[in-house]
Amino acid sequence: AIIGGGINGCGIARDAAGRGASVFLCEQGDLASATSSASTKLIHGGLRYLEYYEFRLVREALKEREVLWRMAPHIIRPLRFVLPHLAGLRPAWFLRLGLFLYDHLGGRERLPGTRTLDLRTDEAGQPLKPGLKRAFEYSDCWVEDARLVVLNAQDAARLGATIRTRTRCVEAARRDGLWQVTVEDVRTGVRSTIRAKVLVNAAGPWVAEVLEQCLRTEVGHRIRLVQGSHIVVPRLFAHERCYIFQNADGRIVFAIPYERDFTLIGTTDQDYQGDPAGVHATEAEITYLCAAAGEYFATPIRPEDVVWSYSGVRPLFDDGASAAQAATRDYVLALDAPEGGAPLLSVFGGKITTYRKLAEAA
Ligand SMILES: Cc1cc2nc3c(=O)[nH]c(=O)nc-3n(C[C@H](O)[C@H](O)[C@H](O)COP(=O)(O)OP(=O)(O)OC[C@H]3O[C@@H](n4cnc5c(N)ncnc54)[C@H](O)[C@@H]3O)c2cc1C
Repeated sequence: AIIGGGINGCGIARDAAGRGASVFLCEQGDLASATSSASTKLIHGGLRYLEYYEFRLVREALKEREVLWRMAPHIIRPLRFVLPHLAGLRPAWFLRLGLFLYDHLGGRERLPGTRTLDLRTDEAGQPLKPGLKRAFEYSDCWVEDARLVVLNAQDAARLGATIRTRTRCVEAARRDGLWQVTVEDVRTGVRSTIRAKVLVNAAGPWVAEVLEQCLRTEVGHRIRLVQGSHIVVPRLFAHERCYIFQNADGRIVFAIPYERDFTLIGTTDQDYQGDPAGVHATEAEITYLCAAAGEYFATPIRPEDVVWSYSGVRPLFDDGASAAQAATRDYVLALDAPEGGAPLLSVFGGKITTYRKLAEAA
């Protein structure tokens, strides 16, 4: 039995059903209604994670790019990212070194490698402020995140899994070596109980709440909820490449062509308290994103240009990092398997990019 119909819950359902397990998944809202539809929608190695020495994660994620692209080419496609060099921020040799590692850490067969651009002559320099001379261009991929979740759920169902949306897990307890899981149809209030040999808590930002309130158990691992927001503005440039901008605060911000007529700009990193369902882009985040992109684009981006925004809460494993942006993006699977008791597996952290490997490990 799996609690949570985000990318991790649906990925685990598909993997387990594919191995012949009898699978039940409940999702309190719709599939991908929480974090898994609020991402930057990149299948990426995570260039900036190299600065935090997350080599395991980056290597696994880089390899997954081409695996997933081959698996779902109708919703995943390659992208080129332009990373301008700005005097006073990371030196050019440092960016080149990071991209050398990115190109060679593993798994890149079809995606083109890094090249250097002269922004004074390349089309990518046109929408940017004059003074910018040099940039590096590298590969990652784009994904329709919510569709990837739904496709995993559909394939799990094809393999025999029962997928119940609008169904909240309200209680789960160990009984006679099994889990007894009570779920409630949120539209009718009707409750039903199923029994399972193994329980997987893939509730994303609610992982701790499920442990405390449904399972009445201690959380054990610490979770760090980190909000991330995006803004959508009318299209800022004509070409199909994306930008990755370095900010003076050490963070990076993406500007990505979005739904033909728009540009998607994100994201932010700030610690979050409260119900993850209530997350929304704050005025301060919108101002921050406009200013960050405005450092590079020749035309200013104002909060009144924003036509839409969305926000999500990253359910990160708390590794004690001081800044939210530095908290690890790697996943941790916490297994609680007492002698004679049915096992419980809780999922902390993870990326859309690494969901398949996470599911395999689960
Ligand atoms: C701003 C932002 C940008 C990101 N960008 C990227 C990116 O570009 N690339 C990338 O690879 N990753 C990215 N990520 C990370 C990625 O989106 C998340 O790691 C991933 O979506 C988490 O999936 P999940 O299944 O664990 O959680 P969720 O998608 O949140 O799923 C958990 C589900 O559990 C359900 N649930 C909770 N409690 C219960 C209950 N009691 N009963 C039933 N159901 C319950 C919830 O309704 C929810 O749908 C980003 C994240 C954020 C926030």
